[in-house]
Amino acid sequence: MLYKPYGRTGKNISAAAFGGMRFKNTDDIDGNAAIVFRAYQKGVNYFDTAPGYCDDKSELIIGAAVKHMRADGSREFYVATKSGEADGAKVRAQLEQSLRRLNVERIAFFHIWCLLTLEGWAQRKKGGAVAAALKAKAEGLVEHVVVSSHLPGDELAAVLQEGVFEGVTMGYCAANFPYRQKALDAARVEALRGRILSSFDGFCTGCGYCLPCSQNVPIPRMMDAYNQKLLGSKDQSVIKRLRWHWGLEQKDALACSLCGTCEQRCTQKLPIRERLGEITRLVGQQKQ
Ligand code: SF4
Ligand code: SF4
Repeated sequence: MLYKPYGRTGKNISAAAFGGMRFKNTDDIDGNAAIVFRAYQKGVNYFDTAPGYCDDKSELIIGAAVKHMRADGSREFYVATKSGEADGAKVRAQLEQSLRRLNVERIAFFHIWCLLTLEGWAQRKKGGAVAAALKAKAEGLVEHVVVSSHLPGDELAAVLQEGVFEGVTMGYCAANFPYRQKALDAARVEALRGRILSSFDGFCTGCGYCLPCSQNVPIPRMMDAYNQKLLGSKDQSVIKRLRWHWGLEQKDALACSLCGTCEQRCTQKLPIRERLGEITRLVGQQKQ
């Protein structure tokens, strides 16, 4: 199976996904769940469903398969579901129902479902649907807020450029690709932007707001050295940066009294004390 990064989510999903819209014999929850589980065994890790699909049984089927996949535990899997409501309270109620039916504590990909017109998109915002989805994300009930759409490419591109969504589900095939191309291009740019931003997540920017330190620890310089580790360099690069670029030693990190003041001030919310401890350990190892 081929796995590819999905949008700005930071997750890798299987190139072939499982769509839960075409189950036969929908009363046979367990039989259909066995089909889903078979796909999982073959490498599929993305399972798409929605309220209302297959006589409103699709979420129950995927939920039954979730139990098997969780028991197996050999691979991560992601469940995607949706809400087409514009009213925030209705989105919330639907999401809570989906969580129960799917047997999950959080939805990996929660879709603002089926945008057909820009007026419809405006209603989703005005009615509170988007706010409800983002609130659920902040609460940990949703991992990523995404969108599914049948809009023409340029209109969907405009929606994506608002930066609300981390991913998009849309039809793109030989029959319709000219109609959708602009949206695909916009999604690519958004994904690239997200990857660049996430690769800088956790970096010390050298702003100096963490200072002064009561123990005179040169925090920005220490954190700059630690940046080397985040860039994927070897531990030696951290030590070299510390010693030869900044002229610092293990004792400069050891001076920290762990008061935590700097972490309250840090603009990047960095775990400064933990990083100082790691630097101390790296330099100590080298001395042995
Ligand atoms: S936690 Fe350590 S580095 Fe940060 S302000 Fe306190 S003493 Fe200084
Ligand atoms: S406030 Fe945070 S980001 Fe800025 S220099 Fe200090 S540690 Fe680095």
